Amino acid sequence: MPHANLIGGEWVAGADAAANVNPSNVADVIGDYDQASLADVDAALAAATVAAPKWSRSSPQVRSELLDAVGSEILARRDELADLLAREEGKTLNDARGEVMRAGQIFKFFAGEAVRIQGERLDSTRPDVGVEITREPVGVVALITPWNFPIAIPAWKIAPALAYGNCVVLKPAELVPASARMLADIMQGAGCPAGVFGLLMGPGASLGHALASDARVDAVSFTGSVATGRKVLAAASAHGAKVQLEMGGKNPLVVLADADLDVAVRAALDGAYFQTGQRCTASSRLIVEDAVHDRFVAALKQRLEAQVIDDARGPDTTIGPVVSEMQLAQDMRYIELGRQEGATLAFGGERLRRATVGYYLSPALFTDTANDMAINRDEIFGPVASVIRVRDYDEALAVANDTKFGLSAGICTRSLKYATHFRRNAQAGMVMVNLPTAGVDYHAPFGGRKASSYGSREQGRYAAEFYTTVKTAYTLAV
Ligand code: ADP
Repeated sequence: MPHANLIGGEWVAGADAAANVNPSNVADVIGDYDQASLADVDAALAAATVAAPKWSRSSPQVRSELLDAVGSEILARRDELADLLAREEGKTLNDARGEVMRAGQIFKFFAGEAVRIQGERLDSTRPDVGVEITREPVGVVALITPWNFPIAIPAWKIAPALAYGNCVVLKPAELVPASARMLADIMQGAGCPAGVFGLLMGPGASLGHALASDARVDAVSFTGSVATGRKVLAAASAHGAKVQLEMGGKNPLVVLADADLDVAVRAALDGAYFQTGQRCTASSRLIVEDAVHDRFVAALKQRLEAQVIDDARGPDTTIGPVVSEMQLAQDMRYIELGRQEGATLAFGGERLRRATVGYYLSPALFTDTANDMAINRDEIFGPVASVIRVRDYDEALAVANDTKFGLSAGICTRSLKYATHFRRNAQAGMVMVNLPTAGVDYHAPFGGRKASSYGSREQGRYAAEFYTTVKTAYTLAV
């Protein structure tokens, strides 16, 4: 059963299957991936519920070894996994390799964390009483993941969930089942006990909703769009489950006149366009001080001219295709809307023809934009960015914060004063100074504010907050 779901430690065929198509070449079908049914959701949760008591009390050494073995296998199969990832998602081989490495490192990190779970001990206010504070697993955790990081996002949810003793059911995005399926294979190969990890591939509206609504699920971690996140929150909180949501962004990159122009242009190019702009931390609003505006735009356009937009696995490609026809249509719709709103399309924004039929789009740069235009309000999730001209730092900060989102915010400046002020006053979960808004470390907390996130942070030691529940025990020594 090459592309079956994993339920209770068994590969279970679906009643039907969906084709996984390469966005660089729509004639290339990677495979037909089995679609789970609602009965499969039930079976996967039943298996997780059965496995939970034993796994939750397993030795941290056992969990550490499992995660370490999974991490090693991912790293050993880096090239094979990266090729598959680039083929199904459309990011370049280089980026795919980086993502696979990241997934391996995350498993290794949480292999260490499994044996470092800590508690606290306090003296009670009452004589001879001790207070012990410990962290226990939450129970059964449903993970619902998006298509833009097909292996890293599942990894950064699965690894901490298992490290802290939870059982997991993963529902990956419809567009990228292959990377998740490979990861499930690696989990099985590493000896993951039956029911501790399950994989259900298929549509989010039915499977994702069924998982989030099921009373056997103690916690739901979701990454995806704001609209879907809100549905997940409603379904999961209705039965009291813990919820963590990572959603959109409309991340600003401020460029001040005193910035190192080369650093600023590189940050904008990477943040706005690499990985086809399909990152929730992408810089879509480039807020540029008047004094440097024209030089910045000219330099960025020059860098855009040099980009190679082609097959994700091509040797020279720097920007791959858009992930799907639907996403391409959304990008094009916003490009048209930007024009209608009076913005100047200074570069790109055109569908491109290549040797194979794929969803190729030249990176689009708008100038003469205002922050209240739809292209600066809504998350587009493609290779589309706008320049917003501002008078000075104060206006830049006000514009940066004038958004419903708050994931990442960047500033390019050589002024310690402005960098420090921006770090303190940017309304975002992550702030970058002289760096792209996208690109984070695996051992540091990840998450945002406002409409971007809900619940506690992911990654690093902060992940313990979500994947454990705290117990306070009082003991009288008699
Ligand atoms: P995108 O627009 O990027 O595909 P979504 O938020 O729609 O983002 O999808 C993110 C994940 O949520 C995917 O795995 C998808 O299948 C799943 N999903 C979609 N609809 C629902 C829903 N109603 N309940 C739970 N999960 C869902």
